[in-house]
Amino acid sequence: MGLCPLARMPLLRDNFTGPLHPWARPEVLTCTCWGAPIIWDGTFDPDVAQQGAVQNLTIGLTVFAVGRYLQKYLAHFLETAEQHFMVGQRVVYYVFTEGPAAVPRVRLGPDRRLREEREERVARWRRWQNVSMVRMRTLHAALGGRLGREARFLRSVDVDQHFSGTFGSEALAESVAQLLLWHYRWRRRLLPFERDARSAAALDPSEGDFCYQAAVFGGSVAALRQLTVYCARGLRRDRARGLEARWHDESHLNKSFWLQKPAKLLSPEFCWSSDVGRRAEIRRQLLWAPKEYALPRG
Ligand code: UDP
Ligand code: MN
Repeated sequence: MGLCPLARMPLLRDNFTGPLHPWARPEVLTCTCWGAPIIWDGTFDPDVAQQGAVQNLTIGLTVFAVGRYLQKYLAHFLETAEQHFMVGQRVVYYVFTEGPAAVPRVRLGPDRRLREEREERVARWRRWQNVSMVRMRTLHAALGGRLGREARFLRSVDVDQHFSGTFGSEALAESVAQLLLWHYRWRRRLLPFERDARSAAALDPSEGDFCYQAAVFGGSVAALRQLTVYCARGLRRDRARGLEARWHDESHLNKSFWLQKPAKLLSPEFCWSSDVGRRAEIRRQLLWAPKEYALPRG
């Protein structure tokens, strides 16, 4: 992992994780050149992270479950989130769907609630790329409403995955990006950023830090309002010009995080797929559901 040439390993501190122990994982990069910690298993103290609960924050977990994805993934996603996601904290799940009646009744722990956010617009899109892209606009609108007033920190995640390990306060910060599991070992110039200069998501060959994943991002309400509006505008501008960035909303997310550096990065351990195979440095996992590329999405 030699992506960040100025990487240092200082004693890092942040409000949620307490002292970090980057030296616990000498084989991986644990700090970006702009000073953001990269959270790997073993670099944080789960007990200290757990004490975030005393801060009495409401954490929102937003998830889109449209069409087939609602029946197929949501129940398992929620059940595993109950076991592993911010246990002991005040959590609100915001499920964006066109079919609130079909949202599974999962037993929730104390201080945990689920809100169905009716999302008709999403359902109209036939292509999964559009479902994925329209999320930015929908999230931005929601952040300006009740969701934005209720939650202090948010995490937006894909529904086609499940939690298989603790996902606690160590994953919170003003803005949080997820390292993409396929590319975290790649040389920077090979990373698949949008290179068509006409696209709003375009990055010059000399630009781009890491490849981040749209399936998991988070941060404060203010930071996410900025991020989502930036991406939604870029997506709209591209569409008006008949363009679509190579990795859709993910390309725009990457452009946005290039301009506004994330305050914290999560290692691929926080969003892993068994498709990658075994890697010595990957110790804990939020797993993707197996991909079913042969089936129509939605
Ligand atoms: N999604 C959905 N229904 C669809 C397509 C997408 O609910 O028909 C939502 C869902 O939350 C999904 C996310 O959009 O996890 C991104 O789509 P997908 O997971 O198929 O994209 P990929 O992970 O392959 O980039
Ligand atoms: Mn997905």
